Amino acid sequence: MLYPDDSTTMGRELRLKQQYFFVSASLQDILFRHRKHHTGFDDLPDKVAIQLNDTHPAIAIPELMRLLMDVHDIGWDAAWDICRRTFSYTNHTVMPEALETWPVALVEEMLPRHMRIIYEINRRFLDEVRHRNPGDLDLVRRVSLIDETGGRRLRMANLAIVGSHTVNGVAQLHTDIIRETIFADFHRLDPDKIINITNGVTPRRWLNQANKPLSDLICLHIGEGWLRDLRELRGLEPLAEDAGFREAFQEAKQSNKERLAGLIDSRLGIRVDAASLFDVQVKRIHEYKRQLLNLLHVVHLHDRMCADPGAAWVPRTVIFSGKAAPGYDMAKRIIKLIHDVADVINHDPRINGLLKLVFIPNYDVSTAADIIPAADLSEQISTAGTEASGTGNMKLSLNGALTIGTLDGANVEIAEAVGEENMFVFGLRREEVKRLHDEDYDPMRFIQSSRALANVLRKIHDGYFSPTELERHRPVVEDLMGEDRYLVCADFEAYLAAQERVAELYRQPEIWTHRAILNVARMGGFSSDRAVHEYAKRVWNVQKNLEAVEQEFHGGQFVHGMQQLAQNPDLLQFVGLGEQFLAAGAELKGSN
Ligand SMILES: *Cc1c(COP(=O)(O)O)cnc(C)c1O
Repeated sequence: MLYPDDSTTMGRELRLKQQYFFVSASLQDILFRHRKHHTGFDDLPDKVAIQLNDTHPAIAIPELMRLLMDVHDIGWDAAWDICRRTFSYTNHTVMPEALETWPVALVEEMLPRHMRIIYEINRRFLDEVRHRNPGDLDLVRRVSLIDETGGRRLRMANLAIVGSHTVNGVAQLHTDIIRETIFADFHRLDPDKIINITNGVTPRRWLNQANKPLSDLICLHIGEGWLRDLRELRGLEPLAEDAGFREAFQEAKQSNKERLAGLIDSRLGIRVDAASLFDVQVKRIHEYKRQLLNLLHVVHLHDRMCADPGAAWVPRTVIFSGKAAPGYDMAKRIIKLIHDVADVINHDPRINGLLKLVFIPNYDVSTAADIIPAADLSEQISTAGTEASGTGNMKLSLNGALTIGTLDGANVEIAEAVGEENMFVFGLRREEVKRLHDEDYDPMRFIQSSRALANVLRKIHDGYFSPTELERHRPVVEDLMGEDRYLVCADFEAYLAAQERVAELYRQPEIWTHRAILNVARMGGFSSDRAVHEYAKRVWNVQKNLEAVEQEFHGGQFVHGMQQLAQNPDLLQFVGLGEQFLAAGAELKGSN
């Protein structure tokens, strides 16, 4: 229902309406509940913590100011103090185009009162900046909530930082990067404000529920303690040396692979060999995540196999899944290209089924839970410095896949935890990426020095995979030959070499399995329990034990709010949720 196509003015307006609608409903609910047990709002920050999950709900800052001042008659200073002690903000990306900015004219038109409040927040904030940094006009321009270059725009990240007591990045490398780049000025103004809390994943869903065969095997050997304290997985480490355990571990993986092969056959009508290496890249389709790098390797492999089908190839099934944002043209081209390459490879009699390529549609959490337990190889190949954390990387390693990856996001910390020798690390480091960009990166240099890359790009360019429309994939290839913003060409040869190491190791199942077990055993630090406890202690200042807090959370309030909304079809229509929202509500009613 959410995230409409924001490539049009109408889509962008709808998006801002949705953001404001949910934010306002949540804040009014929070204040209503607080008033039932307390007089006034002075102690709101002691009882309530509001975590801004990215900048999308940042309009909550002026909205809480509005509610406190206009509805509850609190003065500016007291209201601002309550806000700043209640809000904190998690940054999830360093992509400049993903940092939300709204045209001031649009906010003015839709939320005029909020725009006045934002101006006043900005005036007071910039006064303080000027007072502490006299004469530094450029600093004032950079940290202002309003971008005055070109059409005036409201910078939601700046608003979120100024209105929060704590800001966090989601992996150590990512936090280092935001301190040094996009938020460097704010970091200098307040060096204690930006902290790191590395993401985690829940072991209940991503291991116990998603992977029964492995979960049962683990419980058999170390009990059930790991379900609540994932660090207990350490107990598996010695079992990596036990041939009997390795065999049982392999059997669990094999049964997951057979199950997924069955799903692929029934959903897509594609037969894959469950004994082949399952090479998996599942995540949103985005150029920075470099599904193209993976696909170029597939085309290369196909080419090599055709040239020498009798060689001792490791059979592979390459699995992609992921959605493209509605207005993201290049991402949709990449999906189309994957399908076209799959159509040729999967029907090529010359390679005798040695290589299969599968795109599983409609990637969501349920699909993820079907695919991840069956993976042998986890593709985490973003350009170094672009992936804030990643959590797919954690789910896959926790399920006994080996990672082929760059030193990016949480991959860095996963490598430290499981040991670099138990991963296939390749490619440019963050500093090298920065240097290439500074030196005016030219992809043609890398294409001219790699016959494999030149050959693969020529085949796609000339229509080998789109015989009915030879020019279809030229825009993708031309982008790689021209700008190649995410350095696919620069990392291609290193990626090929890493993939050769993968195939070599897969021929030695005992060593492969040994490393897979060590991956699982050493992933205990990547539980969402650890992450949530860090937020509780370092950000929300939660004193009492978390189980008591969990019991106090009344999920029922949300359903109650939904039912009330369902009785106001005009409002739902206004925020673009009309029929879909009512249908979802009806479904909720029928479930528990
Ligand atoms: C875990 C997960 C993601 C995040 O994957 P990344 O590889 O970290 O980008 C995205 N979508 C779904 C459905 C997931 O389960």
